[in-house]
Amino acid sequence: VEPADSLVHALRRSAAEAPDRACLAYFDGRLTYREVDELSDSVAAHLAARGLERGDRVAVLLQNSPHFVLAVLGAWKAGATVVPVNPMYKSGEVGHVLRDGEVAALICSDRAWETYLREAAADSPVRIALTACELDFQTGNDPRVLAFERLPEAPDADDLTTVARQGGTAPEGRDPAPGDIALISYTSGTSGTPKGATNTHANIMYNAERQRTGMPLPDAPVYFAMAPLFHITGMVCQLGACLNSAGTLVLAYRFEAGAVLDAFAAHRPHYTVGPSTAFMALAAHPAVTPDHFASFVNISSGGAPLPPALVEKFRAGFGPYIRNGYGLTECTAPCASVPPALEAPVDPASGTLAVGVPGPDTVVRILDDRGEEVPFGEQGEIVVSGPQVVPGYWRRPEATAETFPGGELRTGDIGFMDEQGWLYVVDRKKDMINASGFKVWPREVEDVLYTHPAVREAAVVGVPDGYRGETVKAYISLRPDAETDPAALAAYCKERLAAYKYPRLVEILPDLPKTASGKILRRELRSRTANSE
Ligand code: ATP
Repeated sequence: VEPADSLVHALRRSAAEAPDRACLAYFDGRLTYREVDELSDSVAAHLAARGLERGDRVAVLLQNSPHFVLAVLGAWKAGATVVPVNPMYKSGEVGHVLRDGEVAALICSDRAWETYLREAAADSPVRIALTACELDFQTGNDPRVLAFERLPEAPDADDLTTVARQGGTAPEGRDPAPGDIALISYTSGTSGTPKGATNTHANIMYNAERQRTGMPLPDAPVYFAMAPLFHITGMVCQLGACLNSAGTLVLAYRFEAGAVLDAFAAHRPHYTVGPSTAFMALAAHPAVTPDHFASFVNISSGGAPLPPALVEKFRAGFGPYIRNGYGLTECTAPCASVPPALEAPVDPASGTLAVGVPGPDTVVRILDDRGEEVPFGEQGEIVVSGPQVVPGYWRRPEATAETFPGGELRTGDIGFMDEQGWLYVVDRKKDMINASGFKVWPREVEDVLYTHPAVREAAVVGVPDGYRGETVKAYISLRPDAETDPAALAAYCKERLAAYKYPRLVEILPDLPKTASGKILRRELRSRTANSE
């Protein structure tokens, strides 16, 4: 198959090849490739008729629904750049993105429009609004989704479903070129104010093509969208890979462990990817059985640390091996992954699980503070170059120069590489804890906590300490019915870690705070500690 140069081309190719195959499955509803192609043409025609021009920005705030896919493809067919926005963002956060991205059109749920987005949009460059009731294509009566009633049509916004069904052809001459900016992805913000990474169509297609050719999936593969589509991993490794291989993408609105397991049983997917916290939630669900995973050929975890203990618990309990992968928004999702025929080794000294090996055409270097390459096995900053690395941040020349010197991506992650070429991520540079001058990497302590049978989630942060400067504190959530207490958990770590590393403070919470893409927010835990003092 000739590689497509954008997901618009990938969709058209798949629609020509398998017009009647289900492209999207959403609860009891389905849309075929022909339908998705036609409906997104109609969205493009509408946007162009409303004055949207090539290169204009279209913000999309929707969950994992068919509407999300039609909005994105419609915007691309109109020649626009998509700004995917986390639908959990509050008014002020959305306002920042709408102004910073100079967004011309906004596509969101009708409820969000009524409750806060109309107001946010009024104070922004937005001049076109489309709203969606994300249940239109759903024919069944699933109680989890019936709670969302269709709202009366807003006079100041058009209805996405009506627009998609009215017919129309995509405007001429608007097809994306490989170097055009496909997405402005505001990073999910575990590290401060969101900046927009500019993912080009070529960036996306490189990783979507790697997913298609690098994984042994059957013909007409079924993908389950576990990661949110507005996040780069969901966009590229789920939607992108699916359209590019004429597969079926199963959507389930948003992550809820019970609904995800039901969708596994109903659709028998071959592949999914999500953050490790999603696998922790599935493993802790009372209804989970090995049969839920019987159809999977491959399962990947990416975007957050994967504790080796989780991989083993998952394999022993349910069968599948969870394949690690490492990536950032700035490199359009993965830049290193575990090849299908192999399993990731665990570094004997630190107990860290390898994240994978760099993809073809991808160069990973480990640099010290002076910018010199370090020998195998030594730690330094991970620096990446390759066809998936974005050209820079949207309208931020200084941040671009700082993060992408000479076109290479400085990840801000500390890692090392072994002699076989396996890459290990130790932690984020800025998460290092300095306890009496000793370096403690939270990840190492978390990996030990995850070997404790009662622990569901663990996050370790440095908290101010009059004597040591900083001391190690662990926040824990427990598995259902598990019994333990902070002192027992501290003692458990003390037996297994050097005296300066074990958490002297342990606090148990019902749940740990997470980003919408499922990562544990250490930043929020740190400020929680600061506020309580
Ligand atoms: P921000 O960039 O604003 O901090 P974010 O961290 O959510 O937000 P992403 O681009 O989604 O932004 O996340 C990339 C980061 O996730 C990496 O820099 C790395 O720290 C972490 N990460 C990704 N994959 C892995 C992995 N397999 N193991 C450990 N950490 C990982």
